[in-house]
Amino acid sequence: MTRDSLYKLLQILGIVVARDDGEWLTISCPLAYKFHLYRSDEHPSCGISYDNTNSKRSVVNCFACGSRDLLSVLTILFYDKKIDYDILRFYIEHEQGKADARELNYVDIYEETDDTNQAIPVYPQILECLLPAYKSVEIKRYFKQRRINLNLTYNVYTWKGGVVFPIRDVDNKIYKLHYRSRSKNKKNRFFFLEPRHFGLSGKWGAKHLWYNIENIDWTKPVFLVEGEFDVLRLITLGIHNAIACCGGISKEQIQYLQSFSPICLYLGFDSDLTGKKYTSKIIEHLRDLSTLYRLNWGVVGVKDAGDLKSRQDLDKVLKKAKIIS
Ligand SMILES: [Zn+2]
Repeated sequence: MTRDSLYKLLQILGIVVARDDGEWLTISCPLAYKFHLYRSDEHPSCGISYDNTNSKRSVVNCFACGSRDLLSVLTILFYDKKIDYDILRFYIEHEQGKADARELNYVDIYEETDDTNQAIPVYPQILECLLPAYKSVEIKRYFKQRRINLNLTYNVYTWKGGVVFPIRDVDNKIYKLHYRSRSKNKKNRFFFLEPRHFGLSGKWGAKHLWYNIENIDWTKPVFLVEGEFDVLRLITLGIHNAIACCGGISKEQIQYLQSFSPICLYLGFDSDLTGKKYTSKIIEHLRDLSTLYRLNWGVVGVKDAGDLKSRQDLDKVLKKAKIIS
């Protein structure tokens, strides 16, 4: 960010500049309310760099809490409802430019997908014969164990004791049903339901689907995770902009993601081998299009978003997010 833009941003945030060293501003840490021992930062311990040619990104350096990245700081403030979206937007426009072009692009895609998407949605009669999960005591108990907000049982179904996640397209039609059994020993714990599972013929379509894609605002940072429960846990913790790849990343899924020109993606796949494979796939195909960050769940001792213990833990992970350049 240039000096002028940064001053303007801080002015909107109500942050006073304590010192200006030519390349660095010293300020009170914006995240002090959350991460500092006394919840304040009276002796400013946070620096932000600027660059008048705008060729280098602004870097944050807080000696007290270790914050390192301005977008991650703003994302935390945004999800804590401390700032509204216009401020996040202001930053993105001034740091990355091109925001308007991206928005145009975004509108075009709807038309495009309508023409090219000839996939067959899940038959409505199947949905009618599946039990909605909120009517199942078992599933509600299961959600509770996984610390998922029970309101979210309204968006899923149950079949043979397991959970059925409807996978929608941006048009909100359901194109796949992803089944997850609750038993731990079974070999096939996850699979896609097909008409044959209900004694019918045919095949439901779309290979490009991501769980929760119908609810995404692509002009805001989007979280990419592996499973539906990771998404539901993040929603429970107040992060609604998250999608799951449902156990694989196909060429179609990559292309679909590219078509939205996401401004920023937080890659939150599991820390195992498969997760690393997904991460490098996304990096390879989206690095030129989006600002990418890698999340390390190990920072708070868990293996994925689904296991997060609290919002505080999520913010710790966010704060340590590594930018991929
Ligand atoms: Zn700090």
